[in-house]
Amino acid sequence: MPSENELIRVAVVGAAGRMGREVLRALTPQYGFKILVAVDRSCVGEHCRQLAGPEAPDLAVKDKLGAALDQSEVDVLVDFSHHSGAASHATSAMKRGVSPVIGCTGLSEADMGEIRSLTKELSVPAMYVPNFAIGAVLMMKFSQLAARWMPDAEIIELHHDRKEDAPSGTAILTAQLISESRTSDPVRLPRQVIKAEGARGGKVCDIPVHSVRLPGFLAHQQVIFGAPGEVLTLRHDSSDRQSFMQGVRLAAGTVKSLQGFVVGLDKILFRDA
Ligand code: NAD
Repeated sequence: MPSENELIRVAVVGAAGRMGREVLRALTPQYGFKILVAVDRSCVGEHCRQLAGPEAPDLAVKDKLGAALDQSEVDVLVDFSHHSGAASHATSAMKRGVSPVIGCTGLSEADMGEIRSLTKELSVPAMYVPNFAIGAVLMMKFSQLAARWMPDAEIIELHHDRKEDAPSGTAILTAQLISESRTSDPVRLPRQVIKAEGARGGKVCDIPVHSVRLPGFLAHQQVIFGAPGEVLTLRHDSSDRQSFMQGVRLAAGTVKSLQGFVVGLDKILFRDA
């Protein structure tokens, strides 16, 4: 186990949420982390161990991020709250020299632009990771490879019914990567007769994306490549929130060594490739 002064000091926002509680259990000294700050707008004053069990830090949940960061020396902020607050949390962190690892999905281009320019202005690196599951990152990598030879693709993403944003951040990133990796144009479809609006999905980089929201799912995605006489399907399923924690540890442990604003865990997983 790393010694006390080697531990990466972490603040967690959205600590009382489903992902936040998982993070409270995952970023332990055993893995080289020490959580010093837990912030959420709900469960304020409650103890992290009451919320997340005995592996969680011995801390109470606070409600003001800036004040909490001023009271503790922290290296990294892990944000699993809501996309509407992510840019302001990142700004608050970076102004104090703390590197944000943003896990909330649904960040707008404007939010990302703001964070990107602050990373330059303040020389504090930051990450936005739409999907921390290693298998999902591999699915995106394999999709890039497939797109070089099979440019016709559609994406189906399936999530639990409490997910607000659609398409998912993973689906958007996958579509962007497929679009950048194609070496030939997809086949033009004949004129279509649409009998229910949205039946062909929403388009991201001209790739149809179909979003399913139902109880019973957690986070799943299928990328389907079609070519004359053959179909290739890549599918990833996260059936437990623990699937995201190895990626959260990787990002929180690496962000300080990066430059600028880095989007996607692939930039860490494949940085030597
Ligand atoms: P949740 O609703 O269970 O938890 C969110 C928590 O954040 C709640 O406790 C809420 O009170 C708190 N919160 C919201 N806005 C806040 C603010 N401005 N300040 C302080 N606290 C605030 O949601 P969840 O399922 O834990 O998901 C959280 C986010 O993580 C979502 O955006 C979701 O899409 C994303 N997510 C990302 C990944 C990934 O791999 N990147 C995986 C799963 C979920």
